Amino acid sequence: MDARPLTLAERLYLPGLFRGLRLTLALLFRRKFTRQYPEEPLPRTLATKGQPRLVQNEDGTVRCVSCGLCEYVCPAFAIRIEGHETDRPIQREPRAFDIDMLKCILCGFCEEVCPEEAIYMSDELELADFSRAAHLYTLPRLLRPAKTAQPRLLYARRLYDRWRKPSSTPSP
Ligand code: SF4
Ligand code: SF4
Repeated sequence: MDARPLTLAERLYLPGLFRGLRLTLALLFRRKFTRQYPEEPLPRTLATKGQPRLVQNEDGTVRCVSCGLCEYVCPAFAIRIEGHETDRPIQREPRAFDIDMLKCILCGFCEEVCPEEAIYMSDELELADFSRAAHLYTLPRLLRPAKTAQPRLLYARRLYDRWRKPSSTPSP
């Protein structure tokens, strides 16, 4: 079957051109979504999944008991833990706890699996430095006071409780 011959307007791409112009004009007056980052910071809520951080108890000790579950589930192999024995009742604590932020994909599995609520997804989003080594966060850089972590930990507890109690609904 022979194709329909193109009109003069079609050969000059005019229909497509006018469709494009109409769309541009329509969008010109809509509300703009462009964010002037970093002058205009990203919104953060309890649901924000930023970089993982560790909880430091009020007495200065690390809440982590070095069980290794987060290291085991981390799909990016970003976590490395070196545990040792301690005289405290928890018996074990990390001597070293590293997270390679360049490998971390912010999935939140470590937060979800931790039996002690010792690691959580913070609302810290910015990550920029001049070397790969600077992105390897060691224990002192990962620790955040329990008071800072508490709102997210409570939110996460409600969130993951969904799998245990189907009727409960998380609210941000
Ligand atoms: S957020 Fe995901 S990728 Fe990042 S350290 Fe935790 S488990 Fe690993
Ligand atoms: S799962 Fe929690 S308690 Fe276990 S090693 Fe990771 S942060 Fe520590």
